[in-house]
Amino acid sequence: MDLSLLECNDITQCVLKERERAVGNFDKIIDMYNIFRDRHVIPVVPNNDCKNFLPKKVNAVPTNDKPLDVTRDVWGSSLAGVSTSLVVPKLDITLDAGRTVTELPVTSNYFLSHFDEDHVGGLPAIMCSSIGHAKPIKIFMPSDPNDKITSLMDAIKHENPDVNVEVITVSAGKSVPMSEDMHLEFFNVKHNPESIGVSVMKKNGISFENILTYTGDTLLDNEVMSDPHFDSTRNIIVESTVSGVFSTIKGMERDQEVVGHASMKDVATLTSKSTRVKNVLLTHFLPTLCIDIKNDANKTLFPVHVKKGTKFGYIPSCSTILNNPAEIKQSRNLF
Ligand SMILES: [Zn+2]
Repeated sequence: MDLSLLECNDITQCVLKERERAVGNFDKIIDMYNIFRDRHVIPVVPNNDCKNFLPKKVNAVPTNDKPLDVTRDVWGSSLAGVSTSLVVPKLDITLDAGRTVTELPVTSNYFLSHFDEDHVGGLPAIMCSSIGHAKPIKIFMPSDPNDKITSLMDAIKHENPDVNVEVITVSAGKSVPMSEDMHLEFFNVKHNPESIGVSVMKKNGISFENILTYTGDTLLDNEVMSDPHFDSTRNIIVESTVSGVFSTIKGMERDQEVVGHASMKDVATLTSKSTRVKNVLLTHFLPTLCIDIKNDANKTLFPVHVKKGTKFGYIPSCSTILNNPAEIKQSRNLF
């Protein structure tokens, strides 16, 4: 596809134009999106040498003393296939490390859910950012079935011996300490062979309480949804790549066919089954969902499927991430 024929400069504009023409076509929109995406896949750290990496000055994000609410207390950006990187400052952890991680404050802990580029493209930048840190930066990740990420990390360490990271390989069913009063627990999801989800468990008296569950990328079938990590917490961050019912764009009924991913409809089912979940952050939208996310959610799904009192949030990064990734966003409510 020749992009110059599109008469548009960013993916949101392109999708809008398609919609105006009332010929919105899923394949065409995905083609356009892939072209935009590929344009941005350049190494964050050229030649894996940290001397070629210019860390940006990133301000700390504001926080508060209230109990965690992911519809308000998460910062970052997320767009399917491009980059997902989410900071939870209250927990000193970053969830996934797409290339937009360079726009976020450095945290002491990183969790990588799987090894697709949109979730690990910023890993070299994290390693470079660790140079000079008093304590090693902890990176929790599944074991690498293809040795791709392991080789990349070895290459960076070889070029930059001062890199100060501790890699902690984890698997579903394991519980690993993260800090004095927090553990991470890992569970199975269904996306790539290595994919895992995580719950942050905080000490409460003599036991640990699940304060946040994050899925990474996954399809949400009954087996995944029945994992107890979804029903033992008030906060979940869950992927929602498509709407799952219909799109506001004509001709997009096929959007439920994106394999290995969840939809807004799946998330609605998940949350309606849960007794404890109160705050739900939706991430990992395709650009097709960025156009009118509130409308898609409001009119089609949530009034029907979701219990009263559940709050839904999103990170409004869709329209800017491809053109201006520096604009990191704070999560906000959908309704
Ligand atoms: Zn992804």
